[in-house]
Amino acid sequence: GKWVYSFGNGSAEGAAQMRNLLGGKGANLAEMSSLGLPVPPGFTITTEVCTWFYDHDNSYPETLAAEVVEALDRIGAATGRTFGGLERPLLVSVRSGARVSMPGMMDTVLNLGLNDRTVEALALEAGDRRFAYDSYRRFIQMYSDVVLGVDHHEFEEILEDYKECNELTLDTEIDADAWLGLIEKFKALVEEELERPFPQDPQEQLWGALGAVFGSWMTPRAVTYRRLHDIPGTWGTAVNVQAMVFGNMGQNSATGVAFTRNPSTGENALYGEFLVNAQGEDVVAGIRTPQDITEKARLEAGSTSPSLEALMPEAFAEFKSYCARLEAHYTDMQDLEFTIEDGKLWMLQTRAGKRTAKAALRIAVDMVSEGLLGEEEAIGRVEPGALDQLLHPTIDPKAERDVLTTGLPASPGAASGAIVFTSAAAEEAKAEGRKVILVRVETSPEDIHGMHAAEGILTCRGGMTSHAAVVARGMGKPCVAGAGMLRIDYRNGVINAAGRQLKEGDIITIDGANGQVLSGEVTMLQPKLSGDFGTLMGWADKVRRMKVRANAETPQDAKVARDFGAEGIGLCRTEHMFFEGERTVVVREMILAETEEGRRAALAKLLPMQRQDFVELFKIMHGLPVTIRLLDPPLHEFLPKTDHELAEVAAAMGADPELLRDRALALEEFNPMLGHRGCRLLVSYPEIAEMQARAIFEAAVEAAKVTGAPVVPEIMVPLVGLKKELDLVRQSIEAMAVAVRKETGAELTYQIGTMVELPRAALKAAEIAQSAEFFSFGTNDLTQTTFGISRDDAASFLGTYQKKGILEQDPFVSLDQEGVGELIRIGVERGRSTRPDIKLGICGEHGGDPASIGFCEEVGLDYVSCSPFRVPIARLAAAQSAL
Ligand code: PEP
Ligand code: MG
Repeated sequence: GKWVYSFGNGSAEGAAQMRNLLGGKGANLAEMSSLGLPVPPGFTITTEVCTWFYDHDNSYPETLAAEVVEALDRIGAATGRTFGGLERPLLVSVRSGARVSMPGMMDTVLNLGLNDRTVEALALEAGDRRFAYDSYRRFIQMYSDVVLGVDHHEFEEILEDYKECNELTLDTEIDADAWLGLIEKFKALVEEELERPFPQDPQEQLWGALGAVFGSWMTPRAVTYRRLHDIPGTWGTAVNVQAMVFGNMGQNSATGVAFTRNPSTGENALYGEFLVNAQGEDVVAGIRTPQDITEKARLEAGSTSPSLEALMPEAFAEFKSYCARLEAHYTDMQDLEFTIEDGKLWMLQTRAGKRTAKAALRIAVDMVSEGLLGEEEAIGRVEPGALDQLLHPTIDPKAERDVLTTGLPASPGAASGAIVFTSAAAEEAKAEGRKVILVRVETSPEDIHGMHAAEGILTCRGGMTSHAAVVARGMGKPCVAGAGMLRIDYRNGVINAAGRQLKEGDIITIDGANGQVLSGEVTMLQPKLSGDFGTLMGWADKVRRMKVRANAETPQDAKVARDFGAEGIGLCRTEHMFFEGERTVVVREMILAETEEGRRAALAKLLPMQRQDFVELFKIMHGLPVTIRLLDPPLHEFLPKTDHELAEVAAAMGADPELLRDRALALEEFNPMLGHRGCRLLVSYPEIAEMQARAIFEAAVEAAKVTGAPVVPEIMVPLVGLKKELDLVRQSIEAMAVAVRKETGAELTYQIGTMVELPRAALKAAEIAQSAEFFSFGTNDLTQTTFGISRDDAASFLGTYQKKGILEQDPFVSLDQEGVGELIRIGVERGRSTRPDIKLGICGEHGGDPASIGFCEEVGLDYVSCSPFRVPIARLAAAQSAL
């Protein structure tokens, strides 16, 4: 095989498309070289060598050494230099370069090829001893650190000691002889630590550096990074060896980094920093303050240090023209590294630049108007998940973070407030205009009001689909869930956070983007939806096939959903509508009633409230489809817990509190998630379905009158596993439709469908579809029941599973496409086999996850339904998956 690819002098053996073989850096160096940009000549050793290295006991392919010699000769020919030569010595940089940039690996060794003799040749040639010795000491420092494992700080200490003794502050004040003295100390340090001298042979240095790059592919840090970012170990890294150019050759030399557009705002303006008389690592190291590249940026920053534009106008103009060329060539914002050696510009790197969501939007939209991109390409340039940043307040990246503990990033956005432990306290605070964070061990439907009143929610138990997480996402409230290190002592009103005590009223900040809990108030940035957002969304809507609906039950959520472009409601969880003030008591009356009569009495009280809820929802959605799910309460969430709650219900029912307590105890379940919930409740108590169906139908009739738009409710039966369950509930609904038609004289059209959230439902989909006009995959429960992992208790071990590589992602966040996905495929296929026009959607949390949305497109669902605040993400993800 061919292991080495050369570039330089306006040509290259490689190209940008060869990223897999040459790594990102190598492929782009080759490309720039072919474009005729000034790239220091060099070569790339392929990623296949890395793979070979690990497949063959850390050894190299036989022909590699000869190819390296030949490639070095080519550099020599291009530069008129010799590696190890005592006249015009060739010095090289050695850099790793995987397919994707990967922190945690060996980065760079500069000035390789210097030794006690070549350094004198360099000094002579440059006519500058100080420069030569400075380069040599940098090489010893870097090489010893990354190749030989002598810590960087030990050298820094020697340097600092020297500066202190001689009352110097800057490295630039150290003269040639002093550097020479320091070099001796550096070498002595290496010899002392390693019991052998610093290598003087340039060949030995080179192979040492190559070994270090390949070796760094398997360091624990790199392995961890790959695991977290889903990068296969088999990719390997390439190595780039390039002739050195010197940014530290005096006042006419410089080195810098730049973005072709502003990476935080997206503004189409060159943006970057440089240092005069410096080498690459100085810019990053932050020892000296870098200067702005452009005059514009300098003026905006109010800086008095001259810009590159002012200092070296010719090199600047040339650089600027390359920026434009590279952007046009790659049709993307570029992140560049360059060096100016004695007035001559050299390009050292180009790659797609990292950017904020805001910048990504602006750049994509601008590039379309500039004619660089088409609309469809632009759609692919914004990562859907990143839109989250735009829709919620976020912590100012410049703010200090005093992290108390970390939980799951359950709902994005950040919020600060005083700690409260109860929903009542949260509501009270809200009424008084105080901002609070509701801190609970876990939340239940009873806390919905408190959650509404709080700025954010923090729990120490529960996973990504726990009650707190799901509800908070629906509300668009920040939530950190499952912060297991917190010990909440409700009785004394204190929290123990990994040894630190917090009490009610203390101010904390939660960051729903990364799960951090911070002490005190932290500065926030407020979201702004720019015109670019609307423009890109408009393009996305033109190309996507799947519809996007929202999971919403309150008028407020429904409005947010519509504002974000939802095309209907895909899941209205009616049990969430029952936990409001007086309703709580009525619902408890219904649940605790011993007789049908008692239940009907309670249901009669609920009917007008439910009807009114639905009228509101239908009005807001104005003819768009609304899927209403019949009651699906995990019973335990509804049972009265405290004496006060019991007394309250007892009074309302005119019942004996003690008898009621027995009844409540009798209703307690060992495993409520697998208990008397969903359609099982409707089968036991058909009067519940009847009441809800009546409320829906009457509301449809009423809303249609007001809006003038026909309302076609979609009634959804939860947790069906058997066709007979659905048939029974269907009978109740249909009977009610007949009744309401008769009573109102109105036309009434509706659909009845079911959730597919149990493996049996997916397997028996052909049969169940005979009774269902639509399926909505409830992937929260389907994940729970397929894995047999409780949604509420998974947090305690899923983290370990991810760390140990058993699961790559939390299956409650991103759909397990292989396992749960197979059941969905089966459900889709079998459902369509008996009802070809069956409407298919998803309403689990995965409906807002881009990767899962891609899967939904693949299996041909008609729509996805997600939390209102994820609707824009889903619109974009659906568009991308359709392209
Ligand atoms: C589901 O199970 O995926 C679902 C949407 O229902 P819930 O989360 O209310 O159980
Ligand atoms: Mg469910």
